[in-house]
Amino acid sequence: MNLYPIKAGNFKLDGGAMFGVVPKVLWNKTNPADEKNLIDIASRCLLIEDGDRLILIDSGMGDKQSEKFFSHYSLWGSDSLDASLKEKGFHRDDITDVFITHLHFDHCGGVVQWNDTRTGYELAFKNARIWSNEEHWQWAIAPNKREKASFLSENIVPIQESGQLNFISRSADAAFQKSSELGFGVLFVNGHTEKQMIPHIEHKGKTIVFMADLLPTAGHIPLPYVMGYDTRPLLTLDEKKLFLDSAATNGWYLFLEHDAHNEIITVQHTQKGVRLKEVFTCNEIFN
Ligand SMILES: [Zn+2]
Repeated sequence: MNLYPIKAGNFKLDGGAMFGVVPKVLWNKTNPADEKNLIDIASRCLLIEDGDRLILIDSGMGDKQSEKFFSHYSLWGSDSLDASLKEKGFHRDDITDVFITHLHFDHCGGVVQWNDTRTGYELAFKNARIWSNEEHWQWAIAPNKREKASFLSENIVPIQESGQLNFISRSADAAFQKSSELGFGVLFVNGHTEKQMIPHIEHKGKTIVFMADLLPTAGHIPLPYVMGYDTRPLLTLDEKKLFLDSAATNGWYLFLEHDAHNEIITVQHTQKGVRLKEVFTCNEIFN
């Protein structure tokens, strides 16, 4: 099995919204804000090459919205999904599976693109199965008012109509299970949104966890550092505590999708709770 980081682009988000109730004097140390109070955010996806399967985890926000829409997200840098795939020797048509941790636009937008005539949408991965789970899908297609701006119909409807949508089978009472369809473990968490999926991948004797929005950046390790976007912040706090305790005890490698400056981290138990231990590049851990 080979793993590759795929950089689908970079954007910025309001630092206050990213850290909820935590004062700026604290979060600004790890995630410095610009003059508009925005902090750097990455869309770092993960590509798993496993036999004849080529599985992409998340897809970035894509490029189909208006200039006005993207102006709210202050895109920066030159990274793109296609260029990043090409650099690793792949093309988007090679992808056999796209695993979507959850359907917020910055995770799934890259799955849907304009068709050639720009008269409608089509899937950007024509040979791939698209993976979600049934509870999250139901939650996303009838969104609450809080998450409505993140669950965009132009992402969700074309996936639904494509015939390429698949649901991970899930036993109702298990928070963690090994997906027989994809060959890696999946933790289901509910604080950020309903049934977000966190992949756990065994690679060369290491456990690599794709953190998605359970831990967006290394700055979010202390327990109360929870995003204002989360629908159930107290639950996120509990889920993070349980997860980070295990991550520190078991020496897991945490792959940070949204951290523009830290690719992979480990954590350790300290008297103050679980804290950052070491920072690695993907190259150091994957090769
Ligand atoms: Zn999200």
